[in-house]
Amino acid sequence: MPGEQPLRAKRQFDRPVCRQLGIFAAEILSLIQSVAVIHNFNAGPSILPRIVFEQSAQAVLDYDHTGLSLLEIGHRTPTFQAIMDEARSLVKDLMQLDSDHEVLFLHGGASTQFMQVPMNLLDDKETAAYADTGVWSAKAIKEAKLFGKTEIVCTSKEEDYRYIPRDFAVPNDAKYFHITTNNTIYGTQWQKIPHTSNALVADMSSDIFSRQLDFNAFSLIYAGAQKNMGPAGVNLVVVNKNILGRIKRAIPTIMDYRNHIKEGSLLNTPPVFAIYVSMLTLRWLKAEGGIDAIEERNNRKAALLYEAIDRNPLFTGTVEKADRSKMNVCFIAKDASVEEDFSTYARNQGIVGIKGHRLVGGFRASLYNALPVSSVEFLVELMDEFAASRA
Ligand SMILES: *Cc1c(COP(=O)(O)O)cnc(C)c1O
Repeated sequence: MPGEQPLRAKRQFDRPVCRQLGIFAAEILSLIQSVAVIHNFNAGPSILPRIVFEQSAQAVLDYDHTGLSLLEIGHRTPTFQAIMDEARSLVKDLMQLDSDHEVLFLHGGASTQFMQVPMNLLDDKETAAYADTGVWSAKAIKEAKLFGKTEIVCTSKEEDYRYIPRDFAVPNDAKYFHITTNNTIYGTQWQKIPHTSNALVADMSSDIFSRQLDFNAFSLIYAGAQKNMGPAGVNLVVVNKNILGRIKRAIPTIMDYRNHIKEGSLLNTPPVFAIYVSMLTLRWLKAEGGIDAIEERNNRKAALLYEAIDRNPLFTGTVEKADRSKMNVCFIAKDASVEEDFSTYARNQGIVGIKGHRLVGGFRASLYNALPVSSVEFLVELMDEFAASRA
């Protein structure tokens, strides 16, 4: 071509400079790699499997080669119906639910269930029993009071919720007994689900699908998705249909579980994207081996971290050992300056989300299903290293 520059002669590199550059590049690369790995211990919204992020991103651009985004199709199309069907059946399958238990994906956070539960189950003159094991329990109790009477059958509030109460009795005539299976903020967990003759209702927001339980023993289970099963904006509700329709109150249409059951969880436009991402997460869970397999992994992660806390001279766990949560591991530094320094140190190494809840301070590492064992191993390594550097 006219005016084109002639090809430049290949530049000759001088060898020692090259070698220097090579070493420098390798160093930069390893630095980038070491900081680019993020270990996400966030309490919620929280880590989901990488594959789920990739599949959800793809679905936003072009859902299953339809040429349409999942965000622009009707919720009553066969396409979305298939997603809803699979999501509900994965829940039934993973939890081994019997035919009395219905699976719903409803709007709102777990906080919506604080009111929806008593609105559906408790008449004005009736009493509901609650275990007060943390802030979320207390919030559930506050809402129940709007609909009927409440009895707090046990509380650990006087000791900053650092244990799960053991000796208590639930009155026979209590319409239901409500527990919070895992206390996200304080890091306690019911290791054994209490036996009662009452209908058992559980907020499982932060340990849903993390361990094997007799799910059919519950009359109602609810969980906000964003801790262990999906993104924010949807609630999973598992309800035994036999407990519904036993009150006199008129329930607003959208709040009545029976209407949602009748319509197959499609009473109105559901949070389609949050349900899709939850479905993908459940699919992942099933492929990983289901609840048994994930429980085994969760036990391993929790054991690793609690052992590291217990052997470390700088840190100490905050709750009763027997009641330690396998999802949210809370600990403090024995000395405030250590807390600052370790926070910075961990942050610089790619650790995200280990700051304790604003109500309790210290550290909280959330070990939800999608958090790999390697992230816990890495945190443990840092804690050991940090203590050694201070010794
Ligand atoms: C996070 C959480 C909630 C509140 O969930 P929202 O979706 O924000 O309403 C309720 N209960 C427990 C146990 C939680 O961990």
